[in-house]
Amino acid sequence: MIDLGEPLEVLHRVFGHPGFRGLQEDVVRHLVDGGSGLVLMPTGGGKSLCFQVPALCRPGLGVVVSPLIALMEDQVAALRQQDVPAAALHSELDPDEARSIWRSLDAGRLKLLYVSPERLTSEATLARLDEMRIALFAIDEAHCVSQWGHHFRPEYRGLPVLAERFPRVPRLALTATADQRTVLDIQRQLGLEDSPLFRASFDRPNIHIAAAPREQERSQLRRFIKDASDGTGAGLIYCGTRRKAEQTADWLRQDGHDSLVFHAGLDPRDKREAHRRFARGDAVVMAATIAFGMGIDRPDVRYVAHTDLPRSPESWYQEIGRAGRDGLPAQALLLYGAGDIALARHRIGESTAPDEQKRVERQRLEAMVAIAEAATCRRQILLHCFGEAAPEPCGRCDICQAPPRLFDGTVAAQKLLSAVLRTGRRFGLGHVVDVLQGKMTQKITQFGHDQLPTFGVGRDLSELAWRGVARQLVAQGALDVAIDNHGELLPTDAARPILRGEQQVMLREELVLPPAPGRGALR
Ligand code: ADP
Ligand code: ZN
Repeated sequence: MIDLGEPLEVLHRVFGHPGFRGLQEDVVRHLVDGGSGLVLMPTGGGKSLCFQVPALCRPGLGVVVSPLIALMEDQVAALRQQDVPAAALHSELDPDEARSIWRSLDAGRLKLLYVSPERLTSEATLARLDEMRIALFAIDEAHCVSQWGHHFRPEYRGLPVLAERFPRVPRLALTATADQRTVLDIQRQLGLEDSPLFRASFDRPNIHIAAAPREQERSQLRRFIKDASDGTGAGLIYCGTRRKAEQTADWLRQDGHDSLVFHAGLDPRDKREAHRRFARGDAVVMAATIAFGMGIDRPDVRYVAHTDLPRSPESWYQEIGRAGRDGLPAQALLLYGAGDIALARHRIGESTAPDEQKRVERQRLEAMVAIAEAATCRRQILLHCFGEAAPEPCGRCDICQAPPRLFDGTVAAQKLLSAVLRTGRRFGLGHVVDVLQGKMTQKITQFGHDQLPTFGVGRDLSELAWRGVARQLVAQGALDVAIDNHGELLPTDAARPILRGEQQVMLREELVLPPAPGRGALR
């Protein structure tokens, strides 16, 4: 016979925590009383206890749907350490192990069962669960049920059956994705329209956030890692492609780091090994694509860097949210380039998604660009994306600590745009900057560009500064970068009023002008 208990008593006795955090108590009470609901809590917010505690307070078996075997195994191992009888049922068990779990279930010896969605929704499993007393269903990573976001998993498609087949069993869906469309979709699919939504604040005050244009990526990352890590804990470097993740892991290793790599192209054994080493290693740093996400249970990730612009504030937030789950200070750094922004815009433009979805993806991307090129508190902008009001600047981002100064960059913008037009919109930034700076390169002689009125009008700014101007014009939508050919610069319609002098362009000073004494340099 398994002891049941009161929520607070279970929290103390089984989990050894002095009290509930935030919304946990409300969620737990609601479930213990037999209610269903959806929990929106940032990564690290403490979602697991929201279903583990009620499962131990209610008679019967708590069934937890989880998409990732590594995640299930971790949670089961942790529960067993607390003497909670738990098991995981998934496709990688051999038949003997599965049979033994079923024997324990039939004998009522288990209190929590982690199960993969496809296993759970098979008729064989459902039929056996029909015969048992079920305390609750918890659907972790519930956004995987929504076709709306980027995270849809076909295995989650069968989950609506739970509401039909077990109408009296409480269902708790949990996610760290706060996007409104996804939330509505989850509620509809899992039959939670009339159940409460528990929405926690998404602020993670212990994570310091910063962003910078990508200039010398490796030295920027080296400095960041040095500042952010104290020789313990772990770090994450998210890269835009598998190849870049591999390369990053390689040079980190050459730099003397204990580096790992993870992306969707690894075979399952290497993935598990990478997960395992990441979970245990001290001062270990993982270079990965966003495929490395679920199942990172490590509380002491000290830093998360992105080498490329994430596709939405939600993705960025979720990825940096893997840092500092222990509540201790952690750092996030976002590196980005104008090319990233242009590339992402083109990808959306060319995708075959329905127009409505493209529109939303475009909005998400533009929101991400706004965070990257922000002139005001980044956290305020980020929280605003989640519908959360943050009345005061946070004081814990790079912008708050060194507010950028803006200056009227209209003339610089006009020079650059006009150099692009005069050279016939056929050249990339390098050549355009050479023209502005009046360099006599072979290409310039070849095309006679030293005869242009714009030749040499930009000697007042450095090459780096011109790159800064270009990037901000891209971010502001006045300039486009052709990605299919050679990165030719293409002025957009928004460039016209600037060229005609009808529209002022404000630029961030430190992205363009050399740092002056006393001005916080962000690079
Ligand atoms: P999530 O699933 O929301 O990302 P977890 O459930 O893994 O978060 O919890 C994150 C961390 O916070 C874990 O290390 C967990 O032990 C800890 N934690 C959760 N709730 C509490 C609490 N009430 N008191 C102390 N620690 C907690
Ligand atoms: Zn701030």
